[in-house]
Amino acid sequence: MTDVLTAAQRQLNMSRIRWRDTKPEMLVRQGLHARGMRYRLHDRKLPGRPDLVFPRYGAVVFVHGCFWHAHGCALSKVPATRRDFWKQKLEGNAARDRNAVAALRADGWRVLVIWECALRGPARWAEIEVLNMASSWIRHASPGPLEIAGKNARRTDRDNE
Ligand SMILES: [Zn+2]
Repeated sequence: MTDVLTAAQRQLNMSRIRWRDTKPEMLVRQGLHARGMRYRLHDRKLPGRPDLVFPRYGAVVFVHGCFWHAHGCALSKVPATRRDFWKQKLEGNAARDRNAVAALRADGWRVLVIWECALRGPARWAEIEVLNMASSWIRHASPGPLEIAGKNARRTDRDNE
């Protein structure tokens, strides 16, 4: 087979592959499972294919890589080369995320986004703090959406977008 991927596409595919089942998502899965919470994974029938779905609590959870989902924090710097390509690509991803959250909420789902920087990098919380925040939000049926990001991360209030 001829390799027809451009370098940028290849890089994109690599980041996609690397992100699947990577540490933050596994950590969240294992931590919530250990707290007795049961979920479905990557439900294709739901907008945005949430990473974890908690039917009993009417809640879905996304664990987002900060680069890939254009968080705007220190972990999500756009590469200096092919800047326009990346900016367009990543902004497209962020727009898709916003649409998925809006569609989920319109269908009555509660949405939690856990950003990679909450669990990795200099601004991270202790794992147990993130898991406690997540499980209490899921269990207590708080109506509003929640984002858990690294300490001092740029606020991204998706409600107002
Ligand atoms: Zn981040």
